[in-house]
Amino acid sequence: MNLVLFGPPAAGKGTQAKHLVDVYAMIHLSTGAMLRAAIASGSELGKKVAAIIDGGDLVSDDIVEALIESRIEALGSDKSYVFDGFPRTVAQAEALDGLMSRQGSRIDGVICLTVNEEKLVARVEKRFADEHRADDNLESFRVRLDHYNRDTSPLLPYYAAQGKLKTVDGMAAIESVSAEIDQIIGGLEA
Ligand code: AMP
Repeated sequence: MNLVLFGPPAAGKGTQAKHLVDVYAMIHLSTGAMLRAAIASGSELGKKVAAIIDGGDLVSDDIVEALIESRIEALGSDKSYVFDGFPRTVAQAEALDGLMSRQGSRIDGVICLTVNEEKLVARVEKRFADEHRADDNLESFRVRLDHYNRDTSPLLPYYAAQGKLKTVDGMAAIESVSAEIDQIIGGLEA
């Protein structure tokens, strides 16, 4: 089973991805984490994307599509993937659908975590204090939220039209969100 964890920045996608890894042994594919690793390694790709990420803008579709494609081609189509922070544009979603279908696979469900803006801001401030992620300052966060609303939220009707979209209240306690996700997975497996 392959799932997309969907939602605005700081909605809790990474936290719930960990739950899916721990309980269902899914493979967590986070383009944000891959890009941060590229920056940390000092690679050409890292140098190219560092300023874009720090400012909160989106990296180009071809870069993130290539990262996901190479990872899936290396790991194989017999695995269960949880995508976190990808896709972020309709073009990326179309590329992912194409890649999965070439692998004889598919996205089974898209779980959208809904969180209001006030709570997102509070979480970003806390995460900045805990993890010092350069793009968790409020200025970059506003840019990231604008990109979510403008470029990423059109994926909601895209996946709804495919009958794959499930919405979960991401304001609830972490365990309750995980429990709701478990129920969705149970329904998809049935
Ligand atoms: P994240 O860890 O998912 O919040 O991603 C951190 C940053 O990496 C984003 O603000 C973007 O600059 C970049 N990024 C991550 N995933 C993508 C993607 N799918 N498309 C474009 N940019 C991305």
